[in-house]
Amino acid sequence: VRADLTPVEARVAEAIEGSRPKLIALVRELVSFDTTTWSPGRAKGQEFELQSYLRSRLTALGADTDMWEPDPTGQGNQNVPDDLRFDGRPQLVGHIAGSGQGASLLLLGHIDCVPTGPIESWTDGPFAATIHSGRIYGRGTADMKGGIASLVIALETLSKLGLRTRGDLTFCAVTDEESSGAGSLAAISRGVRASAGLCAENTGFAIWTACRGSVIFDIDIEGRAGHAECRQRDWADGGAVNAIEKAMPLLSAIASLRNTWRERADHRHRLLPPGDAIPVGITGGEWEATYPSRCSVTVNVQFLPGHASAEAGIQSVQDEVETVVAAAAQADPWLTAHPPMIRWRPWVMPAEMDESHPLVGQISDCTSRIGRQAEISGLDSWHDAANFTRFGSTPTLSFGPGLLECSHVADEWVEVDALVDHSLATALTILHYCN
Ligand SMILES: [Zn+2]
Repeated sequence: VRADLTPVEARVAEAIEGSRPKLIALVRELVSFDTTTWSPGRAKGQEFELQSYLRSRLTALGADTDMWEPDPTGQGNQNVPDDLRFDGRPQLVGHIAGSGQGASLLLLGHIDCVPTGPIESWTDGPFAATIHSGRIYGRGTADMKGGIASLVIALETLSKLGLRTRGDLTFCAVTDEESSGAGSLAAISRGVRASAGLCAENTGFAIWTACRGSVIFDIDIEGRAGHAECRQRDWADGGAVNAIEKAMPLLSAIASLRNTWRERADHRHRLLPPGDAIPVGITGGEWEATYPSRCSVTVNVQFLPGHASAEAGIQSVQDEVETVVAAAAQADPWLTAHPPMIRWRPWVMPAEMDESHPLVGQISDCTSRIGRQAEISGLDSWHDAANFTRFGSTPTLSFGPGLLECSHVADEWVEVDALVDHSLATALTILHYCN
């Protein structure tokens, strides 16, 4: 159903429908590059090659492009891991100047993907981008190369039809979303901004205006080694102490904190679940007949936009965690004498944009006029849009063609009809928002 389109919109709809084969080909091309996100110890993927290809597409449609490898250490904030590297992993921006006096729009996406997992769990392999029953299968089809292809086709179509907007258009494709969000921070440092932003994440046509933040911490718990098969003196007399058992009261304290958050008013949000604290890793023990002398527990903490601020960062979340861990330690004489140590890793900030922002209404209106519904919702996890909203003076939402449940799984897919509709909804939104 393409109801109530103006003559100009109908021309755009016809052109995007005509570009269906090009859209499919572009998704397949993007999926064919292995852009598994980099982590220390892993070989570099083909992020440079993919960005170079996208750059040539942007240049061909008349955009001024900028492609660069940021200095990860130069960003100077607690959201960037120390060991992050960007060599061979450039950021890409394409700028299309408007004719003046219109709202500018950022079109955003990340080109990195999560690891494929076991290759044999894929029917046709992760990079083959095969098509079955109207779906393209492959790593990144939903999250989020399908969305990126859709944005590019929208821009190419408007350019081909000579429909120049009044406001500027900025396309931005970043790396390192999946592990840190440092690519979008680098783009913000480079000066990328607009009146508002649209990230084509896998929202399934929902409009995500809010997301939670997350931080991971490790607790190191000390024990004392000793023969596990022999009687031990009291620890105060030099006996062994089991570090794994000493982790148990701390894990209980974290579970109660989580339960408290589920009941608390400050953890209620219209679009998001309450904060959470989930143990996701544990290591400890040296030998099968030895009391473990150390144990480390890794915990993933999620929190709402109200629990982070520009001035204090996530101090209130960290204070709460440290308080409950310290209280649990104080109830145990060994842990009182050997306090567990908490190590905080870099974090991503939660964010939300105003639901009454004109971009939200424009997307919702354009999407319903092409026969789909764009409901406002939130992302339990985190997306790059949050960095632009928080740090980039660019209120940014996510709105894309893939489905969230298709991401990070084997046989990931995106539906071709959804790609075409998303590209059209985006093109119409550009015309309305930027004119
Ligand atoms: Zn994504």
